[in-house]
Amino acid sequence: MLVNAAGMLKAAKAGHYGIAAFNTNDLEWTRSILTAAEETQAPVIIQCTAGAAKWQKGFKVVADVVRDLVDSMNITVPVAMHLDHGSYEDCFKCIDAGFTSIMYDGSHEADFNVNVEHTKELVKLAHQKGLSIEAEVGGIGGTEDGVTAQGELADPDECAAIAELGVDFLACGIGNIHGPYPANWAGLNFDQLAAIQAKTGDLPLVLHGGSGIPKEQVLKAVSLGVAKININTELQLSFHKATRAFIESGKDLEGKNYDPRKLLKPGFDAIVETAEGLIKDFGADGKGWDF
Ligand SMILES: [Zn+2]
Repeated sequence: MLVNAAGMLKAAKAGHYGIAAFNTNDLEWTRSILTAAEETQAPVIIQCTAGAAKWQKGFKVVADVVRDLVDSMNITVPVAMHLDHGSYEDCFKCIDAGFTSIMYDGSHEADFNVNVEHTKELVKLAHQKGLSIEAEVGGIGGTEDGVTAQGELADPDECAAIAELGVDFLACGIGNIHGPYPANWAGLNFDQLAAIQAKTGDLPLVLHGGSGIPKEQVLKAVSLGVAKININTELQLSFHKATRAFIESGKDLEGKNYDPRKLLKPGFDAIVETAEGLIKDFGADGKGWDF
């Protein structure tokens, strides 16, 4: 069942568990994520960046694949189709393409007031159309050109100003970063998270860069108000590891294992297994009907 993400995240926040938001790259990726959600009876968010949508020839293809697979796989658990790190323009495209949820990332705007104005406009439009909306304050760090930046810390007052605009959930930097974490990473800043939550009431918060954060830190973040945990790299790494092992074992040279359905199956099975493990780690298994 395709839904927006507002209800499931409210329920997760009230129930002190986290909902995984997995990034998709193609039809097989989406199918693997849906399989994991149905098997664990968990609500799930499938999300897509502009880059991954470009690879798949557009946001409409991504949304149509999710919608059609939910239907043809008889998926019973709630599924939200969400835009990840959208620009102002991407948000309009995804509303038209049939997404059920959008993220406007105005954290890179030179002026905070631009983030406020765009978020305000998009909240109104998204809610008119029945979509949920995520906004962002304070950039999430990451690796660019081989240099890994320590994650930024969002200003609690700016978070409060964006929360007041009626967003359904909010991404805020608390030392988290995208991509693999460096050995000298300082960890999540829980004081900052508590300060942000104190100013944003019961608004569900989003933990970006969820791949590779130690489980105890994720669960502590959930106890302090995080309800959505973004996972991208972790599924890519498990797909890569299983595919590599299959080829290195020489099994790809046996029989008709050159058939892509056979060649890539170990990788997709690994995605299902990793996604199920994360859903259980976050406590969302069996919560498909919590709201
Ligand atoms: Zn992110």
